[in-house]
Amino acid sequence: MNVIIGKRLTVLRIVRCGTRSLSSRQEDVNARQKEMMKRGLPNISPIPGVKNILLVASGKGGVGKSTVAVNLACAMSAQKDKKIGLLDADVYGPSIPKLMNLRGNPRLTKDDKMIPLLNYDIPCMSMGFLIDEKAAVVWRGLMVMQGIQRLLRQVSWGELDVLVVDMPPGTGDIQLSIVQNVPVAGAVLVSTPQDIALSDVRRGAEMFNKVKIPVLGMIENMSHFTCPDCGAESKIFGSGRVKKLSKELNLDLIGNIPLDPELSEYSDKGVPIVISKPGSRQAREFMNIADEIWQRLPGA
Ligand code: ADP
Repeated sequence: MNVIIGKRLTVLRIVRCGTRSLSSRQEDVNARQKEMMKRGLPNISPIPGVKNILLVASGKGGVGKSTVAVNLACAMSAQKDKKIGLLDADVYGPSIPKLMNLRGNPRLTKDDKMIPLLNYDIPCMSMGFLIDEKAAVVWRGLMVMQGIQRLLRQVSWGELDVLVVDMPPGTGDIQLSIVQNVPVAGAVLVSTPQDIALSDVRRGAEMFNKVKIPVLGMIENMSHFTCPDCGAESKIFGSGRVKKLSKELNLDLIGNIPLDPELSEYSDKGVPIVISKPGSRQAREFMNIADEIWQRLPGA
């Protein structure tokens, strides 16, 4: 009996200890963010040749942020006679090489800047071109910051009208250091309809608000599924929540992308659906979103 009680107490202590360390870690992050914000935006400087920077962000990973970033870049490029670039700032899980079917190391210019790799007429840069994808997962603090600095400052983009940035998920130091480094024209927030994704989106919106970056809209991914046999639509992850949150945050919901196995399949093959099936319903949805963004990007 005594042994059981002893074990229970130990478990209780561990749980309590875990809770305390989690909340104190969150306090640390908040304090650091406050400190960074207090210091203001001293290091903001443009990326040479880049007119507008558009961030594609999400609170959580796995909600389809990279899929949206890639298709959006392709849709924006197809719509106007403007040059679009794609920067994969998701250093922990760089997926642009796969989604854009690109691999290899970038060549260097005479002044040691990296030349982006090109596919579908979109110059792309990603940590995945520089290191083994698995290595990035174990990166910590300073290494990540240095990696981000390199991606932001040592790439020869040429002339770009819009650089679409696939952000790392979340609202920590890395995200903050990106938005405090380069002038950002606007951001879009991607979420799936689940509560767990939405609560983090709220934090994302708050972060952009604090650093005075306009959020151009919210995009609901995996919003519904259409049965291929009977055509019936079902809202697998719930309905109306993204719209409700967007209203609450005073943001426009600028797109609803269905949950679609084909979209995922083409992504895995490295051919964005906007390129592989431009006439499809999914591609048209991305085109509509791109349209909305063109209208909202102040300088484009
Ligand atoms: P994130 O960048 O948020 O981590 P990804 O874009 O890498 O997310 O997407 C995660 C997975 O979900 C990928 O396998 C992708 O193909 C799939 N996916 C994303 N959006 C959809 C969708 N609308 N329908 C089906 N699969 C999707």
